[in-house]
Amino acid sequence: MIHSTIERRNCGQGLLEFVIRMDSGELYLECDECLTGFTEVVDGQLGRGFLAIGPEWTARDATVEEISAAGLAWSIREDRT
Ligand SMILES: [Zn+2]
Repeated sequence: MIHSTIERRNCGQGLLEFVIRMDSGELYLECDECLTGFTEVVDGQLGRGFLAIGPEWTARDATVEEISAAGLAWSIREDRT
């Protein structure tokens, strides 16, 4: 999976992962610690979050191409540890 460098203001602990909703194809960011999802990035900041625990859709890891298409390639973390 691919992580983002965008500041995670919610819990301050987890990494933000780029994921894709399987039903709508929408890209969003999800914190791997508190499972908060973020669909909006405005001026490099996260928009309103939602609880991504047990959503009514399934998600998969986003690809670099999809992240680029969403205009967020600048925030891809290079150190994938
Ligand atoms: Zn979190």
